[in-house]
Amino acid sequence: MIDRRSFLQGKLSLPFWGGWLWGRKAAAATAPRDFFKELGVRGFINAAEPFTALTGSLMTREVAEAWDYAAPKYVRLDELHDAIGRRIASLIGCEAAMVTSGAASALTLGTAACMTGSDRDKVRRLPDTTGMKTEVIIQKSHRYGYDHAVQIETAEELAHAINERTAMMHFFNTNDPLGKIKLAEFASIGRKHGIPTFNDIAADVPPVENLSKSITLGYSLVAVSGGKGLRGPQSCGLLFGRQDLIRAARLNGPPNSDAIGRGMKVNKEEMLGMMVALETYLKRDHQADWREWEKRVSLIRESVSSIKGVSSEMFVPDIHYRVPHVRIRWDASSMRLTVRDAIRLLREGEPSIEVRPNTNDGLEMGVWLLEPGQTEVVARRLRQVLS
Ligand SMILES: *Cc1c(COP(=O)(O)O)cnc(C)c1O
Repeated sequence: MIDRRSFLQGKLSLPFWGGWLWGRKAAAATAPRDFFKELGVRGFINAAEPFTALTGSLMTREVAEAWDYAAPKYVRLDELHDAIGRRIASLIGCEAAMVTSGAASALTLGTAACMTGSDRDKVRRLPDTTGMKTEVIIQKSHRYGYDHAVQIETAEELAHAINERTAMMHFFNTNDPLGKIKLAEFASIGRKHGIPTFNDIAADVPPVENLSKSITLGYSLVAVSGGKGLRGPQSCGLLFGRQDLIRAARLNGPPNSDAIGRGMKVNKEEMLGMMVALETYLKRDHQADWREWEKRVSLIRESVSSIKGVSSEMFVPDIHYRVPHVRIRWDASSMRLTVRDAIRLLREGEPSIEVRPNTNDGLEMGVWLLEPGQTEVVARRLRQVLS
């Protein structure tokens, strides 16, 4: 430990961060702190999905390096936000983009943008909506935990529902198969009536094509999570699309005070990390990733293939987390083990393993968030639990 006095005297010429790093190195030479252990908090292997309550996905090394790069430097936030927005827009192939505090904040800021436009008086007035367009239209089958909207079912009902109070038309990408109005038609109806359309693709990357698909189809705004498949900072998201609406969304967000989104703060480390996450993701060999995930599924399936009464299969969800997963089924009564029991045993075992929480059709696991060496550990534990 450096005491404060010698720190101030000896290191005065170093910027604070230099001193901090120096202190960190000195400490590392003895024993690195195991913070989670100190706190009595247990880590786990993620054979589930990037759930917020499970801290999402892990940032890539490139993102962590960008974070460390930005941490000891000051920069003007709006200048950085502009530059990063331009870079991200060019990577996706759209007019404009911004880093938000999660996809959830992208939903709020994007909706606010459709209500206020660039009218600063309206921005200051929200959540008082007097005199603003206050209605968002959504298909009944697309209602979900993130919306608060006017619902319709058919294209006729939609055309009928559009009126002078309509601020936006919202699409929940995951539920596309359930709705009567499909992705492309919804956008074109919006265009025909001059109503901004929003597509929430928060958890629908990978596949990589989804990043630009909605823009190509004519959506005005798109939101995606930064800390799910993109493996950026978990507190980040992206909002992108029409230039005027992104400008309006920026007005409704930080660092502006007296704005509905002031609490949805994003700082330089997160913005830069998010940009690097996107760059890194776009450069990946997505086919090689897919083959690797299939290999992991096979390894897990093989580990239980010789256990009597146990069957397994690979499955790929339709839209949400559309990557190879594994499902294991067994006869719960003859094995005297329910899926719920297996989930608990995996969680409580050593090391702790989290799987998908579904219990209605076998034990489901994601393999795409596993780190090198962890597939073998999961396979071994699973075999123990089922034997
Ligand atoms: C996860 C999710 C969100 C919220 O995203 P955050 O990045 O956690 O804020 C919104 N919509 C859908 C469909 C999601 O899956």
